[in-house]
Amino acid sequence: MRRDTRVWSLTYGAQATPSVLLGEPAPPGTLLPLSFWVVRVGSSAILVDCGANPEWAMKKSVIEYQPMETMLARIGVSVTDVDILILTHLHWDHAGNAERFHGARIVVQQAELDGWSYMLADPATYSWAYEQRIDPSQIALLRNSPNVDVVSGVAEIAPGVTVHPGPGHTAGLQYVKVELGDHPIVLTSDAVFSRENLVRMVPNSNTLNVVETLATFSAVKAAARERGLIVPGHDQTFLSELPSSSPGVRDLTSVLS
Ligand SMILES: [Zn+2]
Repeated sequence: MRRDTRVWSLTYGAQATPSVLLGEPAPPGTLLPLSFWVVRVGSSAILVDCGANPEWAMKKSVIEYQPMETMLARIGVSVTDVDILILTHLHWDHAGNAERFHGARIVVQQAELDGWSYMLADPATYSWAYEQRIDPSQIALLRNSPNVDVVSGVAEIAPGVTVHPGPGHTAGLQYVKVELGDHPIVLTSDAVFSRENLVRMVPNSNTLNVVETLATFSAVKAAARERGLIVPGHDQTFLSELPSSSPGVRDLTSVLS
């Protein structure tokens, strides 16, 4: 295992949900944990998503919400320490604080910007598709900020850290692979909500394109190879099996050996 790389999962709240798997009601009381992730390679800090901002957390009734900087502080990282922010997709619970990273390189897929722009161009028809999911002003901001690195397809972002298109949940979702010798860590974000998606090959209830989602599931399994760790985006059972050093903080590298 690479000794200079560590990967954390930071869970900053939860949300009630009526359904996790497409077409199936969730047991009453099911909660979706809301998370983002941090990769440290040597001295550089890479954020994979940045959580919800306080306005959207209130609007969406997030339970036990913790602001991003509170979660980062629990692993000794401040907003200004972040060199690179990878946005897996632009949903409110993943990209809510992106405008705060003026000094960081922000990586987003072209297809993600294009997908939302398509719907934003015709609000009379498509406002239902974005109003409860994204902050429309963020799309223009990301298109026009000089620190935004718009990529198309697979790209190496830092040594051993690559982004991969994983469409289906949104048009241009990307997942992140961190190479750690025999044990790559695949941060799927919402390419995969829960392990059950992959075991049963059933998409998440919140899926834009079923066929793309199923192809993404296969790609994620291949990316993890035999001994990799697949980290789903919203899986309470998965998280509860990992040791937690402080509330919401899990060192994903500590479970690899
Ligand atoms: Zn999500």
